[in-house]
Amino acid sequence: MKKTTLIIGAGGVSRVVVHKCVMNADVFGKIVLASRTLSKCDEIKSELPDADIETAALNADNTAEIVALIKRVNADIVINVALPYQDLTIMDACVETKTPYLDTANYEHPDEAKFEYKLQWERDEKFKEAGIMGLLGSGFDPGATNMFCAYAQKHYFDEIHTIDILDCNAGDHGYAFATNFNPEINLREVSAKGRYWENGEWIETEPMEIMQVWDYPEVGPKDSYLLYHEEMESLVKHIKGLKRIRFFMTFGQSYLKHMEVLQNVGMLGIKEIEHKGMKIVPIEFLKTLLPDPASLGPRTKGKTNIGIVAEGLKDGVKKKIYIYQVKDHEDCYAETNSQGVSYTTGVPAMIGAKLMLQGVWSGQGVFNMEQLDPDPFMKEMNEQGLPWQIKELDA
Ligand code: NDP
Repeated sequence: MKKTTLIIGAGGVSRVVVHKCVMNADVFGKIVLASRTLSKCDEIKSELPDADIETAALNADNTAEIVALIKRVNADIVINVALPYQDLTIMDACVETKTPYLDTANYEHPDEAKFEYKLQWERDEKFKEAGIMGLLGSGFDPGATNMFCAYAQKHYFDEIHTIDILDCNAGDHGYAFATNFNPEINLREVSAKGRYWENGEWIETEPMEIMQVWDYPEVGPKDSYLLYHEEMESLVKHIKGLKRIRFFMTFGQSYLKHMEVLQNVGMLGIKEIEHKGMKIVPIEFLKTLLPDPASLGPRTKGKTNIGIVAEGLKDGVKKKIYIYQVKDHEDCYAETNSQGVSYTTGVPAMIGAKLMLQGVWSGQGVFNMEQLDPDPFMKEMNEQGLPWQIKELDA
């Protein structure tokens, strides 16, 4: 019987997910695209006139509304590509309706710039009772990066001792300052303190305190700054023998200068302030001023390169490998009307959902990516527009 796939959110990542699900329509069946602003759903639908897509307005902060929609359309899976703020309401609706769930980013509360899996992991029992699978973080990072680690663990190591996740976006959109995905989420992430994990402990750093230059294949050497990133929280639990894990992301000097100034003048604030008798949240106002990430697609040139370097032991011998994926922004736009950051997030979301719908990945409870077999996912990446490379480095 033809399946029904409910996609929640109609931003940059959603556009790619919808395009890619339509390209795999034999698995995804009918698409229901629901988001806060109906016109954004209709705009995505208009790009795919021959596809079976229904659109709907939905406030995903309201569990009852989500439950009603899931029941009305009889969804076989929910792909959550709204914002991290909606993760819990959507997960609860999936439990109530016994519908499998997938997202790309872990829960964050709008009033606290802190993200962690705690509240999502706490729902594991409820997912088990409902007999459904919840897949967390099926984007690129988290997502593909977790798969790279699981693939390295399965095929290359007996024990992995260190992992560096290396995220480079060398795309140029021509603006002095813009963010490649939701500005609020992006700026909250990069203005927070850095953190990495070593010998069982989290070590905190000042924002942008630690920098290394990494020579990214097909891109070149780039300043890469240590940040806290959510996939580390689950990887430290699931990778055998791990002693250290760090995450680095590239930033240009212009981006960092803008960030510093915005931070200094209070524009990254997440608490309400009074302005001419009105209450506003500075970072939300800033989002209104900045270019919509979805509009960067036609302007962005250059490549992304995201990967992991893992070091450890195989048969008692030291070993070091680099698994990475390079994607050209203009190719992404030509295929899906979206820039590379949305593309590299949306394709893994589609792949995760595809493997769940096909029953290739199955289980009851809440899972992080690396708990599942990486092989089918890595194969799909090669076939769905994200071919990856693997290199042995000197250990
Ligand atoms: P956008 O801001 O472009 O899109 C978010 C969409 O969610 C918008 O359409 C928005 O509606 C909708 N939305 C927000 N609140 C609600 C609500 N209460 N009810 C219904 N819909 C709502 O974000 P992106 O597409 O850039 O990012 C989507 C997700 O992907 C985010 O969670 C982000 O953190 C994650 N991400 C993950 C990455 C990874 O590699 N794992 C990388 C990049 C992003 P409206 O249009 O009305 O504003």
